Amino acid sequence: MSFSSRRQQLLDQHVAHLLQCRRCAHMLPPPVSGGPILSKIMLVGQAPGAREPVLGQPFAWTAGRTLFGWFEEFCHLSEMQVRSQIYFAAVCRCFPGKTAAGGDRVPAPDEIQNCSMWMNDEIDLLQPRLVIPVGKLAIAQFLAFEKLDEVVGRSFRLRRNRRAFDLIPLPHPSGASPWHRIPPGIGLLRRAMRLIARHPAVQNLCGKKPREI
Ligand code: SF4
Repeated sequence: MSFSSRRQQLLDQHVAHLLQCRRCAHMLPPPVSGGPILSKIMLVGQAPGAREPVLGQPFAWTAGRTLFGWFEEFCHLSEMQVRSQIYFAAVCRCFPGKTAAGGDRVPAPDEIQNCSMWMNDEIDLLQPRLVIPVGKLAIAQFLAFEKLDEVVGRSFRLRRNRRAFDLIPLPHPSGASPWHRIPPGIGLLRRAMRLIARHPAVQNLCGKKPREI
């Protein structure tokens, strides 16, 4: 069996186990996965909303439309191309439920800790060249910061689990936050998306270089 086939098999098993996870008592299963996409790019969301478990994929609703619109505009990649060529991870893979006020509950620290084992294994398995955390909670798993202005529009070289990769943060595309639609967010988002579009791992997806796994 080739190295690539073996890694695909390991990733298939990883995702199959992930979908069975019921470790957090207050999360609402099932976990949501974008599937076993063997990729050098990982996109890290926060946690699925109420629609994603029903529709069976991450970023399946309005925030997803905005996110995929950014990839279409800056990277010339359709939603289908992004979903089929980028691995979708998240800080938590299950819907946390609603708060009394009606918003989505922010995952608790122990839930984030529980779910981090899945992402750590994915970094080991995929050895990504580029990680794209989407939203404050996802960015905070990699960088210490206070305001999005400090980190969006920049590229960071990081090391985790002995793996080095580039990290280019994005704001959350949710309609609940206007940050990415008004200055300085709108300009910083464009700068971040241009950095993503120019990254060699993304150029590789766009067919400008031979695809490598
Ligand atoms: S949030 Fe993560 S660790 Fe918790 S039950 Fe869901 S998949 Fe498992």
